[in-house]
Amino acid sequence: MNIQLLGGAREVGRSAVLVNNSLLLDFGMLTGNPPQFPVETPKPDAVVVSHGHLDHVGTIPALLSGNNRPPIHWTPPTYELALTLARDTLKLHGGTYNCPFTENDVKRVTEVSKTHGYRETFEAAGHEITFYNAGHIPGSAHVLIDDGDTRLLYTGDFHTDDQRLVTGTTARPDADVVICESTYSDVEHEDRVNVEEQFAQSVNTTLWEGGTVVVPAFAIGRTQEMLLICDEYDIPCYVDGMGKQVTEMLRQYPEFVRDADALRRAKSHARFVTGRDGQRKRITDQKAAIITTSGMLSGGPAMTYIPEIRSNPVNKITMTGYQVEGTPGRDLIESGSAEIDGRVMPVSAQVEQYDFSAHADRDGLLNFLESYRDTTVLVNHGDRCEQFATELQEAGIEATAPEIGSVQTI
Ligand SMILES: [Zn+2]
Repeated sequence: MNIQLLGGAREVGRSAVLVNNSLLLDFGMLTGNPPQFPVETPKPDAVVVSHGHLDHVGTIPALLSGNNRPPIHWTPPTYELALTLARDTLKLHGGTYNCPFTENDVKRVTEVSKTHGYRETFEAAGHEITFYNAGHIPGSAHVLIDDGDTRLLYTGDFHTDDQRLVTGTTARPDADVVICESTYSDVEHEDRVNVEEQFAQSVNTTLWEGGTVVVPAFAIGRTQEMLLICDEYDIPCYVDGMGKQVTEMLRQYPEFVRDADALRRAKSHARFVTGRDGQRKRITDQKAAIITTSGMLSGGPAMTYIPEIRSNPVNKITMTGYQVEGTPGRDLIESGSAEIDGRVMPVSAQVEQYDFSAHADRDGLLNFLESYRDTTVLVNHGDRCEQFATELQEAGIEATAPEIGSVQTI
């Protein structure tokens, strides 16, 4: 088997792995200004996608330009999320160099899509493929690829602990090679229950004091996790941005969430913001949490909420995810001010950050890889892939961190 990382090697973003020159795993986009894409656009015989985050599916429609029509295999939620993200990219960047596909390419995605559940083996480009729950977001999969000689396990992004929205991964299928993500290879997450309790207490304190809390959250996964937490702790909340339609969509796929009834209750507990008739400005006076995109304050309805609530020190902004360097969310945490919609704004409202990660931490990664002691491990999807590979070697695991574009023959 030969394996070529076309993106996501020693970096987070634009994940893409070409197997045996014929099967492509993921084809993502690295958000930024400008966005970046995998180093090559191959013409694979088939495509298999691990999950519906932009850095794994963001460039998929570009594979369908011209006469290329490879089938694309994924779980049903991943398919829906890929379409949602592609349409959003068209809206933001359509017709510019920052959008590598057209509206027609996006329409073709529907024609070539093949959906599969977990543990249903199927064939793609002459390989036997099986998905296993990866515990990251609804529909996320570990992908097992068997070419007849070698079994490759592509972990995609995964979490070993349960979240409210999805259960952690438990599958450890036999493999000869593992491509393993390493986003949090030097982080130990605090116990999730403690994080939730601290968050709930902090939000409730602000509401008792008469303030409003803006909760920036990624649309996919995090928004729904925050809705479930607000319902559990009886925090009055609004939800706004792309997370609303993702929540609606996930209700169609109860088998891909941990507790479909809990998600239904959380959805009816929250008030969905339409944004009509100045509703956004009005609700910034309410004693409530407002869960909204974007998670790093780089767009979305947060652009309306933050300027409205920022001057009052009783109000609060609670970041719920990792903030990439150079984003307004990161600036806000580090300096107390952020460029919102082109204007630098000092913020008097309180700013807090919570670790609601959907990735395995260092212990989770090591526990997972304990099942693959005798396999070759290729470390990807991280800011310190080479260091983590060295640490694995020191622990007796055969590990490397391939460079972008290089070909590994296993
Ligand atoms: Zn992801």
